[in-house]
Amino acid sequence: MNILDRYHAMDYGPAPEARNEADAWLAARDFGKALFIDGAWKAASGGKTFETSEPSSGKLLAKISDASAADIDAAVAAATKALPKWSASSGYQRAKVLYAIGRAMQRHQRLFAVLETIDNGKPIRESRDIDVPLAIRHFIHHAGWAQALDKDFPGHKGVGVVGQIIPWNFPLLMLAWKIAPALAAGCTVVLKPAEFTPLTAILFAEICERAGVPKGVVNIVQGGPEAGAAIVNHPGIQKIAFTGSSEVGKIIRKATAGSGKKLSLELGGKSAFIVFEDADLDSAVEGLVDGIWFNQGQVCCAGSRLLVQEGIAEALIAKVKTRMSRLRVGSPLDKNTDIGPLIDITQLDRVKGLVAEGAKQGAVCWQPDAALPSSGYYHLPTLATGVSPANILAQEEVFGPVLATMTFRNTEEAIELANNTRYGLAASVWSENVNLALHVAPQLKAGVVWVNGTNMFDAACGFGGYRESGFGREGGREGMFEYLAAKLPLGPVIKAATVSAQPVEQADGLAIDRTAKLFIGGKQVRPDGNYSLAVATAKGKLAGEVGLGSRKDIRDAVSAARGAKAWPEATAYNRSQVLYYLAENLSGRTDEFAARLVQLTGVTAKAAREEVEQSIERLFLYAGLADKFEGRVHQPPARAVTLALHEPVGVVGIVAPDASPLLGLISLIAPALAMGNTVVAVPSERYPLLATDLYQVIEYSDVPAGAINIVTGRSAELAGVLAKHDDVDGLWVFADAETCARAEAESIGNLKRVWSGNGRSLDWASDEAAGDAFLRRAIEVKNVWVPYGD
Ligand code: NAD
Repeated sequence: MNILDRYHAMDYGPAPEARNEADAWLAARDFGKALFIDGAWKAASGGKTFETSEPSSGKLLAKISDASAADIDAAVAAATKALPKWSASSGYQRAKVLYAIGRAMQRHQRLFAVLETIDNGKPIRESRDIDVPLAIRHFIHHAGWAQALDKDFPGHKGVGVVGQIIPWNFPLLMLAWKIAPALAAGCTVVLKPAEFTPLTAILFAEICERAGVPKGVVNIVQGGPEAGAAIVNHPGIQKIAFTGSSEVGKIIRKATAGSGKKLSLELGGKSAFIVFEDADLDSAVEGLVDGIWFNQGQVCCAGSRLLVQEGIAEALIAKVKTRMSRLRVGSPLDKNTDIGPLIDITQLDRVKGLVAEGAKQGAVCWQPDAALPSSGYYHLPTLATGVSPANILAQEEVFGPVLATMTFRNTEEAIELANNTRYGLAASVWSENVNLALHVAPQLKAGVVWVNGTNMFDAACGFGGYRESGFGREGGREGMFEYLAAKLPLGPVIKAATVSAQPVEQADGLAIDRTAKLFIGGKQVRPDGNYSLAVATAKGKLAGEVGLGSRKDIRDAVSAARGAKAWPEATAYNRSQVLYYLAENLSGRTDEFAARLVQLTGVTAKAAREEVEQSIERLFLYAGLADKFEGRVHQPPARAVTLALHEPVGVVGIVAPDASPLLGLISLIAPALAMGNTVVAVPSERYPLLATDLYQVIEYSDVPAGAINIVTGRSAELAGVLAKHDDVDGLWVFADAETCARAEAESIGNLKRVWSGNGRSLDWASDEAAGDAFLRRAIEVKNVWVPYGD
């Protein structure tokens, strides 16, 4: 054997991480008392336990207390009791606690990493170099937010007691993403880890004891779906933060509907990894290793769909296969291991099943020729080629080391394929042409986009999804908002509309009978059903008639809104000018709108004039803010800048209240438009003529066709249609409590972002009924990571 042969034959020797400290910790602990409630360790009140075992061997690690509903009650009671003092403590006091947690975690960094690897099966290199350091960074970063609260979030305070439920794939990191911002905001928490991975949360609770976290501020309960559901449904909790599957996310959205609980959902994904022909292929291959084989592919934002430009597909696939052959599958405690076991036999079976089904549907599944360890839940890295867009491997989240590959011809096709999914968590774009990458990034429906990189995270940069990947962000400024509440100026309770006798007697002074139509796609159109709704004056006489919109009309309006590309693609300056022009044209008709308000609502002429003038002022405000409510640039510790871009939510349905029928409608439509959304508005059911009178104002104001659509009719019914429509991205409902609750419950088809007044209107005339609080609901924050340097 010559030296070259020797060199090629050279293999790594085993480099196992010592586990004696972790084993000693495991041996010393009483896991029958694993619930950390009110600063004390408790057994489950029903005495139940569940088992956690080691994925690399299947061996039992511990039997852990399984929290009953009574234990959840006790944890919520402890968090409630601790809340007043904790939320009233100064930002500096809370910052010191967060910092102390971070520092204490640093001192036990290795124990955390080894325990995480033993319990989850992830390679020690990952838990040691990524999970644990990032978790620590989260606490230390959020110490700063605790102190910056008053200055950076004026008018906001902690939302209260928070219920947090996390998955098993990043047990400690997900815990940090949840607990750090909550504590910084002055909230107290009840957190439930996943039943597969309870251990590092127990160690974390021990750290809380030592770091001076006051009793009851952090409560950690253990258990499965039942304990999770008890948290979700608990009336003493003001916010639910959930990370897990889209399926359970939808159950939680439904369960919390109408409860008034704040909700953030970080769910699954099917993220695209797009490689253009001018990419550095070797870097892209290394990126892929991180993108899909990191944590065995059990990563919500795994780049599980490789989209490669046709001309380089063959070369790239060849390189990927070569690299896959060198991935080391084996003991996760070995420092050389790239791929450890999956979490559990159920997950292994699921992944195998999906690969078999994908193959049945035409994919060619390739695996390197490598032996698997004799025990444990291992799966070889798998490459599927010849995958059609409808193949199960292209559509379903596999949550395993399986990469589905497709090719594209040009940029448009790449974007189309990337967006051809119900998810929208993340994407990677590989090209040496940064102009191309930054042209593509805003067109991808994903909350995070990595340019020439993948799986970059930082506590200062928000993370979260579009579409069925959930809503809300974790990390940074936008993540803090998830744990804060601002007092909006509440208006009257909204009662459900009752269908009253239709007025027939013509009001005085109405010369020509006019039936207002609907406004869809820039045109006045008759309602599909050809029915109309009589509108009464304040005195009960007939003021006019409007179209009675139906499901079909909403469908047409949504399709017009979706097709109105000119609006979201317009520059912010353009949008601003159109909104100014709307204001100008409305002001030219102040007398007419004031008279209409008097006629319909019976307010005084002075009050009516004021409402019109305030509506004009509000249009002016949002015209001005259209090009000012901008994103930010983050400078994370990595050599990268992160562009936190504000993007429109998309098609936003708006159900406006009866109170202040003109001002209420404009206060909702204007911020949505300002941020580039297109709107389908259902105006006040009682006073729709104020909206139909706006048609001409809209027509004269250069608003592109389809940007504003107005469908008059029964609010409750139309709200339901909007809620169920899977092409509506956001829904703002100011209607009676039951309609609001139903809209939330029925939004689960595509997990649209619902903002409901929960049966209350706002005091629309108040200054607080305008501004950033509204604009924030009109955007998604997309974080685009752009690394720099050679
Ligand atoms: P899962 O949804 O089955 O479970 C997540 C958590 O919810 C667990 O703690 C579980 O006990 C609990 N739970 C289950 N049913 C519940 C119910 N009905 N009510 C309340 N709680 C319930 O998900 P999983 O299998 O543990 O984790 C994998 C999923 O998590 C993947 O889909 C992955 O993409 C997602 N994930 C998302 C992110 C993100 O930030 N977007 C991060 C990590 C993981």
